[in-house]
Amino acid sequence: MDSCGYCGEPANTVDHVVASTLLVDKGTSVQIPACSKCNGEKSKEDVYLRDMFTIRSETAGLPELAPHGEAMKRSIDRAFGPSPRIGPAVSILKTFKHGHVLGPMGERRAYVELDAARLNEGVKWIVRGLHYHHFKAILDPTKQFDFYAYQGQENNLRYDLLWPTIPGPDITLGGCLRYKVRCFAELPGSSQWLLAFYNHVLFFVEFNWQPAVDAIEALVQAREGREGTARLTSE
Ligand SMILES: [Zn+2]
Repeated sequence: MDSCGYCGEPANTVDHVVASTLLVDKGTSVQIPACSKCNGEKSKEDVYLRDMFTIRSETAGLPELAPHGEAMKRSIDRAFGPSPRIGPAVSILKTFKHGHVLGPMGERRAYVELDAARLNEGVKWIVRGLHYHHFKAILDPTKQFDFYAYQGQENNLRYDLLWPTIPGPDITLGGCLRYKVRCFAELPGSSQWLLAFYNHVLFFVEFNWQPAVDAIEALVQAREGREGTARLTSE
């Protein structure tokens, strides 16, 4: 029997590393063996990831997510409307921070809030699964993962600076995920990962090696410094 790509226990299921609900092209998923415990825990995060991408401003308008967005909107309307129907919306109420704010006319408006820590948990599962897929080695889940989730114009610029520092081609998966990975032979288990979901929601993930963070920071600073100098001399 195969062992689970997440924890090493005997595997009795097959896990889609990127959940099929997230994929645009369902035919190009990556699958690894998984025990039912890991598979079950990860599924909850997969649903959350999908809901997050659906309501995030960067991806809310994407046609890929439109059908799910409609369903989400109906659930939210039912949950927060004039005569709330909790039943159909129970997963939203459970998983999202939510509440009411007062609108400009003093009316009550519902809001739902993103939970960045949980978004990172979902991405962590995917990175662990992809790591197993590529290297046939299990990442210790207690290992330190450092996340940088990029939002907004400034941070997108920073992310663009980081992307070329990872050598090798982009890997695309299921039309929803584009990523690059760099591993350090001298320190097995140390990697840097750049991930772009739907080309809009960006993550830089790194585990187990602080010097790599420092090296990237120095590189970005040097580059920003050069560009700053170029601007000054051209003026
Ligand atoms: Zn497992």
